[in-house]
Amino acid sequence: MIPVTKPFMPPQEAYNKHVTAIWKRQWLTNNGPCVNELELSLKEKLNLDHLLFVTNGTIALQLAIQALALEGEIITTPFSYVATTSSIVWEHCIPIYADINSNTLNIDPESIEKCITDKTTAIIATHVYGIPCDIEAIEGIAKKYKLKVIYDAAHAIGSCYKGQSLLSYGDIATMSTHATKLFHTIEGGAIVTRDPDLLKRLAFMRNFGHDGPGKFNGVGINGKNSEFHAAMGLCNLPYLDQIIAKRKKDSQQYDDWLIDKGLIRPELPEGTEYNYSYYPILFKNEEECLKIKSELEKNEINPRRYFYPSLNHLPYLKKQDTPVCDDISKRVLCLPLYYDITKGEIDLICRLIIRSLKY
Ligand SMILES: *Cc1c(COP(=O)(O)O)cnc(C)c1O
Repeated sequence: MIPVTKPFMPPQEAYNKHVTAIWKRQWLTNNGPCVNELELSLKEKLNLDHLLFVTNGTIALQLAIQALALEGEIITTPFSYVATTSSIVWEHCIPIYADINSNTLNIDPESIEKCITDKTTAIIATHVYGIPCDIEAIEGIAKKYKLKVIYDAAHAIGSCYKGQSLLSYGDIATMSTHATKLFHTIEGGAIVTRDPDLLKRLAFMRNFGHDGPGKFNGVGINGKNSEFHAAMGLCNLPYLDQIIAKRKKDSQQYDDWLIDKGLIRPELPEGTEYNYSYYPILFKNEEECLKIKSELEKNEINPRRYFYPSLNHLPYLKKQDTPVCDDISKRVLCLPLYYDITKGEIDLICRLIIRSLKY
């Protein structure tokens, strides 16, 4: 079976070394040495001012919304994983969907501007598949209407725009380090901001609001992560460049087979340094997309409909129209891409796709 993704596994001896040290220290969680070292290493690697390692990418989004004290309406993208929207609803705000750009598949700034009302407080945009949003346009709109910007950068580690990590943009950027992501800590996530005051607030919030043993600075939650999770990150981080390089090679192999066959790839804005975190491909229509999907499944290959359905169809929301996203989500498929997929496996997948495109 060829799955859509598989986690990267670092050498087991490296992880065992950390486990031995954790055993000796008997310090399992609560801002331990592995968590500190991971935060430092990530900041250094990505050239970021501040970063907090947290429980997961969803808690990261919820903490971001809380720390910015958002209320009312938040304009967001319907083309993302459900957590982008569910975090907004969970925090008692109302998600308002702007449509997406059909080339980059990211939120469309013109559509954002049309969604603004006197209740709008923020924009939460996803750098989908690690492709940069239209950062300048979004910044411009945020300034003009005094809105906060959160980037759901769950897919974005290793992607840069104009030489800077995508995580460095926005009031806050959040990341997921779930096992399915390009860089993982089994479960985990991170919050990034340039604002030291915001960082302080987030750090209190991550730890129940504790400001020392008997003192509290505002309301908080348990957003901490453990030494064991951080240790997995410490083992994986040295391989980040190698993981991205391998995915780049694999993506080029897919491209060589597929892009002159009428299949369309999302566009990277100028100034992008890409992380190849997914291999999405757009078919002519839903029928063709489903035909290829079932053909691959017959051969024990499991691509995924990332992202379908479009989030504006979530059953707990009022209906909102985003025609571009509705169309895209029906005909997009992510093909298998992970560190140890082989050249032969990609050749097989592409031959099957090309063969079934013909009849
Ligand atoms: C994975 C993902 C999340 C959630 O991250 P978790 O760590 O699984 O909670 C949020 N947004 C996007 C776009 C994601 O892909």
